[in-house]
Amino acid sequence: MPELPEVETVRRGIAPHLEGARIIRFEARRADLRTPLPRHLAARVTGRRVLAVRRRAKYLLIDLEAPRTGKGAPTGAPEVMIIHLGMSGRLLVGPDNGAPPGPHEHIAFATDRGTEIRFSDPRRFGVLDLLPSDAFSADKRFAPLGPEPLAPEFDAAYLEQALAGSRTTIKAALLDQHRLAGVGNIYACEALFQAGISPRRQAGTVRGERAARLVAAIKDVLARAIAAGGSSARDYVQASGEAGWFQHAWAVYDREGTPCPGCDCGRGVRRIVQGGRSTFYCASRQR
Ligand SMILES: [Zn+2]
Repeated sequence: MPELPEVETVRRGIAPHLEGARIIRFEARRADLRTPLPRHLAARVTGRRVLAVRRRAKYLLIDLEAPRTGKGAPTGAPEVMIIHLGMSGRLLVGPDNGAPPGPHEHIAFATDRGTEIRFSDPRRFGVLDLLPSDAFSADKRFAPLGPEPLAPEFDAAYLEQALAGSRTTIKAALLDQHRLAGVGNIYACEALFQAGISPRRQAGTVRGERAARLVAAIKDVLARAIAAGGSSARDYVQASGEAGWFQHAWAVYDREGTPCPGCDCGRGVRRIVQGGRSTFYCASRQR
């Protein structure tokens, strides 16, 4: 499943093509992905200008200007188009040249700049929704989310307070989207390795200097993954169709039995299962 760096990479890929552009055609070839598409979706978004392309956790947010009358006066409210890539969704940018859609390209839209965006989703775990912009912060998908890990407000003091008294493992706590938004299994494993913290450690004991080390490692791992265009483990590609390459930089994730980078423990990367997910770590270096 795409995590924060992959979704951020897609955002950076589509934003220059969409921000300031007008949607001149919108086609949905099905009535649903994982959830039903909004009613009258094509009619509601066609003709609208894109104000910004943002990201929150693993969601892409496309801000649409309020619809306007022929005289330019706004009618209705600005809205935000919400896209989640699910397990295997892709947003691909290309020229609007009338090429026939691929079998899983369920949604396509074109802009007045001659660009087409296609949403391909073979397994249909993706989501596309439309919300009034002023309803966004109260939406049940977004209201409970913790801070963005790359935002300044995610710091050691915040993490320590968010973990205080928690008896769950630090690995499970990092995956809890209410504490921290957008970090999934791969980057939780990598950040814990980089910080030298055992994934089995009780979350409430991550305090002080240890919390500072973990915050720094999370930010560093995510920033390096974004710079690498994300990790292409299975289906994920960038908006250009190119793979990311951060999977080649994984220190521990999916590397069971291989030597831990920069560690002379001689035991190699170990895999355990926590909460039904694989955790990869070094039992010597991570305490
Ligand atoms: Zn080791």
